Amino acid sequence: MITDLLKKIRSNKSDYPQGFSAIINNLEERDRNESNVSLIWKAYQLSAKIHADQKRTSGEPYFTHCESVAIILSKWKIDVDTVIAGLLHDSIEDTDISKEDISLSFNKDVATLVEGVTKLSGIRFNSKKQEQAENFMKMFISMAKDIRVIIIKFADRLHNMSTIKYLQEDKQNRIALETKEVYVPLAHRLGMNNVKNQLEDLILKTLELDKYNDINQKVNNTKSERERFIRSFIQPIKKELNDFDINADVFGRAKHYSSILGKMVKRNKSFEEIYDLFAIRIIVNKVSECYATLGIIHQNYNPFQERFKDYIARPKRNGYQSIHTTVFTDKGRMVEVQIRTSDMDETAEIGVAAHWKYKNDKLHNKGNSLDYQIAWLREIYELLKSEDTSASEILELFKIDLFQDEIYVYTPTGELIELKPGSTPVDFAYHVHSEVGMHCKGAKVNDKIVPLNHELMNGDYVEIITSKNKSPNHSWLKFVQTTKAKTHIRRWIKKQEHEQSVALGKDILEKHLRKINNMNILKLIKSNPQLVGLNSQQSVYLNVGSGKLTVDEIVSKYCPEEDSVIHQNKANSLTKKFFDLARGRSKGVVVDGLNDIMLRFANCCNPIPGDDIIGYLTKGQGVTV
Ligand code: MN
Repeated sequence: MITDLLKKIRSNKSDYPQGFSAIINNLEERDRNESNVSLIWKAYQLSAKIHADQKRTSGEPYFTHCESVAIILSKWKIDVDTVIAGLLHDSIEDTDISKEDISLSFNKDVATLVEGVTKLSGIRFNSKKQEQAENFMKMFISMAKDIRVIIIKFADRLHNMSTIKYLQEDKQNRIALETKEVYVPLAHRLGMNNVKNQLEDLILKTLELDKYNDINQKVNNTKSERERFIRSFIQPIKKELNDFDINADVFGRAKHYSSILGKMVKRNKSFEEIYDLFAIRIIVNKVSECYATLGIIHQNYNPFQERFKDYIARPKRNGYQSIHTTVFTDKGRMVEVQIRTSDMDETAEIGVAAHWKYKNDKLHNKGNSLDYQIAWLREIYELLKSEDTSASEILELFKIDLFQDEIYVYTPTGELIELKPGSTPVDFAYHVHSEVGMHCKGAKVNDKIVPLNHELMNGDYVEIITSKNKSPNHSWLKFVQTTKAKTHIRRWIKKQEHEQSVALGKDILEKHLRKINNMNILKLIKSNPQLVGLNSQQSVYLNVGSGKLTVDEIVSKYCPEEDSVIHQNKANSLTKKFFDLARGRSKGVVVDGLNDIMLRFANCCNPIPGDDIIGYLTKGQGVTV
């Protein structure tokens, strides 16, 4: 009976709603069985029922949104649980349905997914920077648990962006900006190219309608000419592919508008000069056919060396695989050609969503699997959640990491390592292992000694020279590129400064107390650090060492009698009194970039605010001015 039903649905002859039939038709063949179809139908009816009295701003029934999200998800060939969660994604938030209800009617997985989407909807990104970063973190924690939550959110955002014109203008702008700041970089990082392109065009349309219309018009005006050119370009290729028995899908590829605009701005060129408008894609069945096809292209047209890229041999970090080549035609035009298998094409369109179904499929586990993507997220998350990284720092580092492309270099054993463009041997060292970074002393690139700030290039062989006694340097922060290196170096420096300040504070305090012959105060501090508002002897030392607490203040708190003696002595020197007043003790000087560092004034110089000063570092005494 179910086979009959499926046949009907497939041929659009059933009485089922079109949206439902579309979902079922889009499903992966192996998912299209009786129990799945009836589960999806159950969810479809439930969603329609519970949203029945709700309307969208456009006036349409709210359910059309849920249906559209599920259709988008089914197009991405994602698993059935996610499609069902897509149908119900707004149910917990907008109706009386609870997580438990969903769990009982369907399963725990679906319920957790819907709950995850609900939590994410509560996050707003257009708030202050601090909150923004925290929100980012929330998003990532939830994502690291189950990437499908994000996938549903992308389908949701895609549909909301495509129907955004019904909203008020300020709301349109807010949503478009949020999409630009958060969803686009994430889509890029997760390898969801097609989603990214669609979102970017919708953002352009919302925020810069004039520019969008301009390009739209130009693209349409040149369409027939472009198609004629592409047809003549493709013809000999198609014939040869046929001769070689390669079954291929060859088609002209429309560049998306925001990338055309981006290129016009970046290269300061007019629409007419952007050669990438001529782009074709060839989809074949096997990897070996990709290379055979490449050979055919290069035999027919002259390749442009610099623009050849083999992302099949070396997939991009986001899992993208394809061969890119740009060739000249006899008319002097350049055409960008992309060659890949249908599997790779699916990955290029929807990224991690394509990997989801291979999760437990060992055959497909080849380095660009879902685990690989999640591992990246976890690594960044672990690094960033450390308590001494500030929220704005997180946001900054995160954005950089999301937008970067990559270069490839080799270890001495021939292992391929992926880094950001502009990376240095220090970045490389930290990538290999944090300990290698910590003790990195020098580097050899292609057998030649180079400085540590040397910029690495694609294909370099890199060898790191380490030494046990070597440790990170403040100046490394100026040139390292990767989040990993930056975070490790910053953390090390902070720890270092902290330890130095503690030791210094202890030293200063002991010296002074010895001078006034009152070592007993040390014991009082140990037993009652709260007297100066701190909770341990260590923090008293730290505060003294960093100049936040003076010895005089300590003495006056723990031994008020001593204090009057000190003040009497001090009053003797009027000049000293003046300087102390002018400088507010030694707190008046801030050393840029250093926090917990001791400052003292040498006896020979008496600067007051406004004077130019120089300082030098003395071990145990901090900076002397
Ligand atoms: Mn929604």
